[in-house]
Amino acid sequence: MGKQKVIIIGAGITGLFSAYYLLQEGFEVTLIDKGNLTDNCSSGNAGMIVPSHFIPLAAPGMISKGIKWMFNSRSPFYVKPSLNPELLRWGIQFWKHANAKHLAVSAEPLRDFHLLSKNLYNNLTSEGTIEFGLKHKGILMLYKNAEVGEEEIHVAKQAKDLGLDVDILDAAQVQELEPYVTLDVAGAVHYKCDAHLYPNQLVQNLITYLKERGVGILTDSAITSIEIKNNHINAVHTAQQKHEADLFVLTGGAWLPGLAKRAGLDIPLMPGKGYSFMHQPGDDQIVHPALLLEAKVAVTPMNGQVRFGGTMEIAPVNNKINMKRVEGIWNAIPQYYRNYKVAMPQPDQIWYGFRPCSPDGLPYLGYTKKIENLIVAGGHGMMGVSLAPATGKMVAQLAARQQTLMDISLFSPDRFA
Ligand SMILES: Cc1cc2nc3c(=O)[nH]c(=O)nc-3n(C[C@H](O)[C@H](O)[C@H](O)COP(=O)(O)OP(=O)(O)OC[C@H]3O[C@@H](n4cnc5c(N)ncnc54)[C@H](O)[C@@H]3O)c2cc1C
Repeated sequence: MGKQKVIIIGAGITGLFSAYYLLQEGFEVTLIDKGNLTDNCSSGNAGMIVPSHFIPLAAPGMISKGIKWMFNSRSPFYVKPSLNPELLRWGIQFWKHANAKHLAVSAEPLRDFHLLSKNLYNNLTSEGTIEFGLKHKGILMLYKNAEVGEEEIHVAKQAKDLGLDVDILDAAQVQELEPYVTLDVAGAVHYKCDAHLYPNQLVQNLITYLKERGVGILTDSAITSIEIKNNHINAVHTAQQKHEADLFVLTGGAWLPGLAKRAGLDIPLMPGKGYSFMHQPGDDQIVHPALLLEAKVAVTPMNGQVRFGGTMEIAPVNNKINMKRVEGIWNAIPQYYRNYKVAMPQPDQIWYGFRPCSPDGLPYLGYTKKIENLIVAGGHGMMGVSLAPATGKMVAQLAARQQTLMDISLFSPDRFA
């Protein structure tokens, strides 16, 4: 018998890592993408690997914050008010899950998922096949406001109870960790368990690695229809061609619901738009990645530069750059790094991407009840890079009908159907 053929629909970081591990399992793999592989969410993000993010986006307190922020165009979290039925449904599910019970159910599985992924990233680095600038400096949660600090220290204690390596630092202690800049903060939590990488390099090197080993990568090829007979996908179609395979993997990022619908599946998800830009530092080096907590801005040193990223705008995909949102990120920088001068980026220096946000803040991973030869992998929201290797590895295990690295029943793609 020849090799089993797998087609992966969507070549962001989730699709690329699925291809990587499917190849290792001996499958013949083809990736099909509607874009050019750089115009998705997986290159310009903050590159953080985050076991610290064991609290899903749908968490206690998010509803009141969301409502407060909704009317401020510079705010970090924004749900565009609209009667769009998908958004309304998403909002109701989000609201239903923003509670302590959901957090209690999700925290340990999310922690394990991130830690498995971090291990796989470590393995990749020690094997030396793919370079992607992995650094183990942790992430600093910087805060200015005492109330926010208290909340963060409460989370840090939960993190410690979950066995994560975390330090609670006062202003002087955190300043010692950043000797080249003057911090203007009340304190920080240092998640030493976290790490970071250079996502642009990761994506490029994964693509090269896969191509060199015979993985087919078709770009500018949007899947327009899915041919199903007796709960089995026979083929997918682009405008140009029909593509047949034994098994299909849906990794369409923020476009997952539309693709799922073509397969007769109901997978709720909204795009969470965010922006980033790069800064070339002088002597004022920032050593550690950080999250500026009140502003919800991510700061990541990478490739000799610093990337600033943020905002979460829950709305259908749109390609306009909202300069007010970018200004919101830019304004926050000197509030935490005093006298740190960053030029306001011009529109052509600004990157944006759409986080694939499920309403309960948990990924989708697994087979569905309706179709026997389809695996869904997506909905990782703000953690898609962090969770990508473990997702890809488990896609390959599912494909090979092996036991997965961890119990994935919580992540069932059927959970809202
Ligand atoms: C500002 C910002 C900062 C972030 N920081 C971090 C971070 O620090 N750490 C972290 O873990 N995550 C972070 N994220 C989130 C992370 O970037 C995403 O979770 C991740 O990139 C999602 O990957 P994906 O492969 O699922 O989706 P994508 O990268 O969007 O890929 C989906 C692919 O599917 C393709 N596709 C869609 N429809 C079709 C179709 N019909 N036919 C064929 N192909 C199709 C698309 O073209 C696309 O290439 C950040 C996001 C943003 C916006």
